[in-house]
Amino acid sequence: MKTRKHIAILGSTGSIGQQALEVIESQPDHFVVEVLTANGNADLLIKQAIHFKPNAVVIADEKKYQHVKNLLSKYDIKVFAGNESISQVVQMASIDLVVTAIVGYAGLQSTLSAINAGKQIALANKETLVVAGELVTTLAKEKGVNIYPVDSEHSAIFQCLAGEFHNPIEKIYLTASGGPFRGKDSNFLASVTKEQALKHPNWSMGAKITVDSATLMNKGLEVIEAKWLFGLDPKQIDVVIHPQSIIHSIVQFKDGSMKAQMGLPDMKLPIQYAMAYPHRLASSFPRFNFLDHPQLTFEQPDKKTFRNLSLAFEAMKVAGNMPCIMNAANEEAVSAFLSDKIKFLQISDMVEKCMKKISFINKPSYEDYVATDRETRVIAQEFLS
Ligand code: NAD
Ligand code: MG
Repeated sequence: MKTRKHIAILGSTGSIGQQALEVIESQPDHFVVEVLTANGNADLLIKQAIHFKPNAVVIADEKKYQHVKNLLSKYDIKVFAGNESISQVVQMASIDLVVTAIVGYAGLQSTLSAINAGKQIALANKETLVVAGELVTTLAKEKGVNIYPVDSEHSAIFQCLAGEFHNPIEKIYLTASGGPFRGKDSNFLASVTKEQALKHPNWSMGAKITVDSATLMNKGLEVIEAKWLFGLDPKQIDVVIHPQSIIHSIVQFKDGSMKAQMGLPDMKLPIQYAMAYPHRLASSFPRFNFLDHPQLTFEQPDKKTFRNLSLAFEAMKVAGNMPCIMNAANEEAVSAFLSDKIKFLQISDMVEKCMKKISFINKPSYEDYVATDRETRVIAQEFLS
């Protein structure tokens, strides 16, 4: 690469956002920070801004605007507030690539806005594709925008597909660690606490995705994400539990050959690959040692106990606004679980109830998704009372 890519990171204070900044810092010849955004963590956003000197920052929480503005007043950094500003700032002419690292449905609007402006996307915010995959991928095609996956499983598949442009995929296997409750039964799960759910065996991530990993909803979201990223039929997508998280996913071609991508679990690698594509940049990430991992094992997922995974497969098959309903219900349920309002097993109850109750729309528009998301959250709240 001759010129440096100018990067906007949406959600720079989160787990992916911070790791994206570490990648940028380690590759100063290749990347420069153009925009940083955060929801409420003003102090970290200020610290990042002083260190990386972006062109602009946005704090979504408008109450914190003055604080951020004051502390950055002696620097040449533009400061904006509110979610609308995130959607506007991503269209700045100086941005080459947008890392979408906001968590949840909240990332949809700004992602669409960036695609509309023709920005290349490194996509971490999987909920965007779950909610409105058809809309997002159609718009990306229309605007000539590439969506590079950051999610490790999808990055694995993307890497396996390099050089296979003319060879159709027969099937993909998304690997899943199984999370902290792998092998447990419903009796055990009935009484697990959020502290237990937040202890992931292999990855350190934001709270929402960590709970999603414990319920297997994360894998369900990833199944739908894969459908849209790789243009697959639901029948072509399968999930296999691989507790060591070394093989990040597998593609099977029509001659029966399977390609897998492997490495230590470290999100910085897929983040860097998405930002540097088509190049592989030299890195000092720790290397895999076979002797440390003499056994790589595989199991079937327990879809009966971890019902969220079955619900996600069902939502994908039904399509329309069903994945949007599932996602909104899950966001509400995870948030209720994290604030001790519901028990672990009630997360799936809440998702299932909303999927049964909200009216189905076969070909939703953007406005339909917004309305579905809103309506689902109201029904989900009724579940709590
Ligand atoms: P996180 O909770 O650590 O960070 C979320 C970021 O989004 C923060 O910077 C926060 O300020 C911002 N944000 C949250 N709500 C917002 C709102 N309403 N408006 C504007 N900004 C808002 O989450 P994370 O673990 O970094 O995950 C981010 C996304 O990446 C998720 O979609 C997740 O599924 C995906 N992902 C994460 C990992 C991981 O290892 N953490 C791996 C694969 C995919
Ligand atoms: Mg993943």
